Amino acid sequence: MALIVHKYGGTSMGSTERIRNVAKRVAKWARAGHQMVVVPSAMSGETNRLLGLAKDVSPAVQTPSVTRELDMIACTGEQVSVGLLSLALQAEGMEAVSYSGWQVPIRTDSSYTKARIQSIDDARVRADLAAGRVVVITGFQGVDEDMNITTLGRGGSDTSAVAVAAAMKADECLIYTDVDGVYTTDPRVVPEAKRLNTVSFEEMLEMASLGSKVLQIRSVEFAGKYRVPLRVLSSFTPWDIAIEEEAKSGTLITFEEDEKMEQAVVSGIAFNRDEAKLTVMGVPDRPGIAYGILGKVAEANIDVDVILQNVSHDGKTDFSFTVHRNDYQRTLDLLKSQVVPEMGAEAVIGDTKICKVSIVGIGMRSHAGVASTMFRALSDEGINIQMITTSEIKTSVVIDEKYMELAVRALHKAFGLDAA
Ligand code: ADP
Ligand code: ASP
Ligand code: MG
Repeated sequence: MALIVHKYGGTSMGSTERIRNVAKRVAKWARAGHQMVVVPSAMSGETNRLLGLAKDVSPAVQTPSVTRELDMIACTGEQVSVGLLSLALQAEGMEAVSYSGWQVPIRTDSSYTKARIQSIDDARVRADLAAGRVVVITGFQGVDEDMNITTLGRGGSDTSAVAVAAAMKADECLIYTDVDGVYTTDPRVVPEAKRLNTVSFEEMLEMASLGSKVLQIRSVEFAGKYRVPLRVLSSFTPWDIAIEEEAKSGTLITFEEDEKMEQAVVSGIAFNRDEAKLTVMGVPDRPGIAYGILGKVAEANIDVDVILQNVSHDGKTDFSFTVHRNDYQRTLDLLKSQVVPEMGAEAVIGDTKICKVSIVGIGMRSHAGVASTMFRALSDEGINIQMITTSEIKTSVVIDEKYMELAVRALHKAFGLDAA
């Protein structure tokens, strides 16, 4: 008998019929003798609908008093899901009980809309499991120390599931979704993308952080920190397929590197269009430029991603960086009102129509020339690179958003992933 955590995403929970299907699948696992904890997301589209309602009535500036209410609203999607799934399980003849984040409780910090899980008290859940119940816990939500409801950021149900699995030392955490595993790139953008049987934890971490939304990055971080056995698989296989077959399907996130296995140099391609670029032009070139600009941005609690400082001409230089698109206007205002006058810069320009495309692979550690293959493939397509950043196992470029799909497809081919 094992303790298993299942997570079902929005599409998998997308209708009452699908919820009944989820219940049948979970019941199959429970009847095979496993203790089952299930973490569902809101039904697909529901979180967007709820946040849309909030947007209609809310001021644009997201103060903590605004974001607190956003979480109060957004978390309800998951509450409906757990109730429905618990009812569906009962209709299947199972004993089942649902809990909101605060009832478990799943404790988080108070960063509304992007809270971090701090601890999970598993006593109540364990008691239910011991009594033979299936426990259904809301994804995405938690509670801070003052009993305010928080949410974990978009896609956060993945993190809820892995954190519950870690806290309960579950034998495995299975992330059921609308694709049958982790692919070499988003299969909805590149039809030639191939499913990976395994992907190393480090590669998954990079892919998630660089835009592959199949797993929220924090769920991967949790899995790594607590060594949670983690698998991504399809919720659209027939619910009654043999458990042994289901348990081997999809993509396993691995923690050990297999020395003997021939590593692909590049395992996957990630992309995101969530960023915007800002350039402070004509900054007098003296020590303290980066601090003078980025210090102000950091004080405003804005995260910076790619950074580029050019060589100077006539004692002046340009300084570019990217931020999340949601922070673009705020950053632009800040640069214009504070940074330009204080640093004696000439102007600020911005561009929201950019995207970041990245190649990821632990094989890059031991292979030279990977980045140049990337640059050649992009140049062959006539795509101009605006910024580049590298680390040991990834290279990212910032390009014009309109070339995103072309770039991803070209790179997928250039690194032999079409044929993998
Ligand atoms: P869920 O609602 O189940 O959490 P998400 O929409 O959050 O599902 O994540 C699954 C989606 O992630 C897929 O439908 C796919 O379009 C996208 N995706 C992006 N990159 C990848 C990748 N490398 N492999 C698989 N899916 C990916
Ligand atoms: N329902 C939340 C969202 O849409 C959380 C999740 O689906 O993981 O972002
Ligand atoms: Mg998701």
